[in-house]
Amino acid sequence: MTQEFDILIVGGGLVGAALAASLRDSSYAIGLIEGNPPASEWPADEWDNRVYAISSASRRLLQKIGAWQRLDPARLGPVAAMKIYGDDGHSSLEFNALDAGVDDLAVILESRQLQSALWQTAAEAPNVTLISPARPESLVTDAEGALLTLTSGETIRTKLVVGADGAQSWLREQAGITAKVEPYQQWGVVGNFEIERPHYGAARQWFFEDGVLAWLPLAGNRISIVWSCNDERKAELLALTPEELAERIAAAGGRQLGALIAISPAAAFPLKLTHVEELTKAHVVLVGDAAHTVHPLAGQGVNLGFGDVAELANILKAEHPGRCGDYLVLRRYERSRREAIYLMQGVCHGLQKLFNNANPWLKPLRNLGLGLTDSMPWIKQQLIRHAMDN
Ligand SMILES: Cc1cc2nc3c(=O)[nH]c(=O)nc-3n(C[C@H](O)[C@H](O)[C@H](O)COP(=O)(O)OP(=O)(O)OC[C@H]3O[C@@H](n4cnc5c(N)ncnc54)[C@H](O)[C@@H]3O)c2cc1C
Repeated sequence: MTQEFDILIVGGGLVGAALAASLRDSSYAIGLIEGNPPASEWPADEWDNRVYAISSASRRLLQKIGAWQRLDPARLGPVAAMKIYGDDGHSSLEFNALDAGVDDLAVILESRQLQSALWQTAAEAPNVTLISPARPESLVTDAEGALLTLTSGETIRTKLVVGADGAQSWLREQAGITAKVEPYQQWGVVGNFEIERPHYGAARQWFFEDGVLAWLPLAGNRISIVWSCNDERKAELLALTPEELAERIAAAGGRQLGALIAISPAAAFPLKLTHVEELTKAHVVLVGDAAHTVHPLAGQGVNLGFGDVAELANILKAEHPGRCGDYLVLRRYERSRREAIYLMQGVCHGLQKLFNNANPWLKPLRNLGLGLTDSMPWIKQQLIRHAMDN
């Protein structure tokens, strides 16, 4: 028997689950297909080495759908200040929440905690059906909508199918939407550490000639790091023992927080820029990493995805349910998201190219830029506002 939905979301990661949860108070019947259902429990003393800096705009979305309230406040790391260091040994730029008149600039939280909160929120919505573990095998679209066949042989009919299936999106490929993928030839090496001296909620970021190191404040005396680096540095870092790695990270950050102790295994993720030609076709739309990826130096990837969710949910809720797959309706989403996506991709890409560049003329220029920006409070406030509201 063929199941029927108005909206079928492929991919129940952070963005797909957030979209399902955002539509919980609508009249749509929603299906959510996920290949790997997330864990809901883990040892209390373990810290996930994937963390996100969640912006104010994303937090508002998560609060509105009820997922934020499910997070354990004892595991959230509010960012009170952000210190950025250039590669000449003395240029720096500092943002802080007090100057911007806000409680925090962002909140650092663990991926699996947020994933579990979103999954539970979607699971409890009366109009959402979780189809998991499951994977689609084929997609056929026609004038009325789409027909998906799962690897189990089951079939699902829907008016709209949403690709929230990440950077390697199966749906994007099936729908014939071209993606231009530009690898950065860099890796994001991540890991968590206990620190000797308190971080007081300050995030720190060092721009080196061959990469960017970020220390993000976790709850308590802990930090999470992302070192965006080339192949050789990645191989060097992953070959170290936990003690050697902690010493290497402490030294790279000038021992600002004293000695470090590794509390989670290090891992590495390849970094790439993904541009898609279109965000939508009739009866098909893309959100999250399926629609765009950015360099993580500004910590904005999932925030951009939550921006897609907020916009698409608003448009779909305002529409007559029968029209949710119409190209003209979906084009409104495309038009309203294009600029935000291009802007964020441009900023992250530009910064990556400006700093990871051996050109001797660029070095004084970029460090001067940091120092100048630091001396201009108005510009700093505008930058903070923009980053907080993506
Ligand atoms: C090192 C690093 C650090 C980062 N730090 C930050 C940060 O600080 N802040 C930030 O905002 N962003 C950050 N990002 C980006 C962020 O990780 C991504 O933007 C985000 O995870 C994208 O979420 P998504 O739900 O779109 O995709 P994904 O997280 O990839 O989820 C896709 C989901 O779809 C499922 N799926 C895939 N294919 C199928 C299929 N065929 N059938 C069924 N299910 C399927 C997968 O199992 C998965 O659950 C970082 C990225 C990296 C690499």
